[in-house]
Amino acid sequence: MDFTLSDEHQLIIDAADKIAQRFDRKYWLDCAKEKRFPQEMWDELGDMGYLGITCPEAYGGAGMGMFELALLQERLAEHGVALLYFVVNQGIAMPCISKHGTEEQKQRWLPAMARGETKCCFAITEPNAGTNTFKIQTIGKPEGDDFVLNGSKLFISGINQADHVLVVARTQAYSEVGEGRKYEGITLFVVDTDSPGLTFEPMDTMLQNTEGQFFVYFNNVRVPKANVIGEVNKGLYSMFDALNPERIVVAAGAVGAGRWALKKGVEYANQRVIFDRPIGAYQGLQHPMADAAALLESAWLMTQKAAWQHDRGENAGKAANIAKYMATEASYRAADSALQVHGGYGFTESMDMLHSFVGARLGKVAPINREMTLNFIGEHILGMPKSY
Ligand SMILES: Cc1cc2nc3c(=O)[nH]c(=O)nc-3n(C[C@H](O)[C@H](O)[C@H](O)COP(=O)(O)OP(=O)(O)OC[C@H]3O[C@@H](n4cnc5c(N)ncnc54)[C@H](O)[C@@H]3O)c2cc1C
Repeated sequence: MDFTLSDEHQLIIDAADKIAQRFDRKYWLDCAKEKRFPQEMWDELGDMGYLGITCPEAYGGAGMGMFELALLQERLAEHGVALLYFVVNQGIAMPCISKHGTEEQKQRWLPAMARGETKCCFAITEPNAGTNTFKIQTIGKPEGDDFVLNGSKLFISGINQADHVLVVARTQAYSEVGEGRKYEGITLFVVDTDSPGLTFEPMDTMLQNTEGQFFVYFNNVRVPKANVIGEVNKGLYSMFDALNPERIVVAAGAVGAGRWALKKGVEYANQRVIFDRPIGAYQGLQHPMADAAALLESAWLMTQKAAWQHDRGENAGKAANIAKYMATEASYRAADSALQVHGGYGFTESMDMLHSFVGARLGKVAPINREMTLNFIGEHILGMPKSY
């Protein structure tokens, strides 16, 4: 086992440092406050070739894998400037199209995505189905050369910035397939966001992020059959495939965000003197931070293992779920302990600790909640009965 990073990997880390110097935390926060997409930063990432990081070279990308995307996302997050769009665009849409798209589809979408000229977001969540994806109700009915989509989604990050959205929809209603065949009858569509009948409006999520979340409505949206990714009615299998990359990028972002919070917490704890000594000396503050640091390091190892397995074509399900679980728990503990050392100042805008705390808390809920990762570990690693 060799833990040395290659020169190429070091270049990615250096590039993230450089980008974060130019587009720093203040830039990121200003964008988030104004609900403005960090387009200048995105363009710079594109110019440096990092938007196509997970896109095969044949389609204009860098032909790298999840390991490299995880390195990049972790490092940007460590500077407090991670992009949620890396999760949906580079982490889900790009690998999904690369792996399950036809040659024509890959030629059509990937080069522009790799250059940063177009973006693709991801829409699965529905009001009535929630975590139970099988029960989504958005339905696509075949009509001539098209499918006609009707239904709605919510919490869709950054659709206002996207040229396309990867939509998970039923092409056979749940009532048609029944509980026994609930995996069947789901199809993946790449839908142009300017399609007639597709509308969206902002949700009131109170989280600082540069993307924003949206309600999305499909009212007789015609989607060419040529836009179906993978097989009709078998889309869930392709989608499950895309969830490991998603978990890996989320884990990487959580590790980086945890390190960012911890660094700020340590700096503050070492210089704030109360009862005649730096508060960092008090074990009541030091141990929770040491605990978080240890967990973050372990979570990072597991994230790298998951990415490595995924890139080798191995089943990364176990490692990816553990990585996502550990990274988000560790990140939460880091943000919580860093907030605690700041005392009352932690709740002031100028200290900029509260957003990271809320962001870390989000990791326990989305994109997959902690209970579902534990369900996975219970069932697939421990061999215990499925509870739902
Ligand atoms: C900031 C943000 C960004 C998002 N971006 C996107 C996006 O881009 N695209 C998209 O499609 N979705 C997105 N989502 C949606 C997100 O993936 C869902 O909120 C999440 O999957 C949970 O669905 P729900 O909110 O309906 O919770 P519910 O399904 O109602 O679950 C509520 C709670 O019940 C518990 N629970 C549920 N099922 C089980 C079970 N089987 N066992 C034990 N406990 C369980 C969990 O604690 C869970 O938190 C986003 C959400 C947020 C907040």
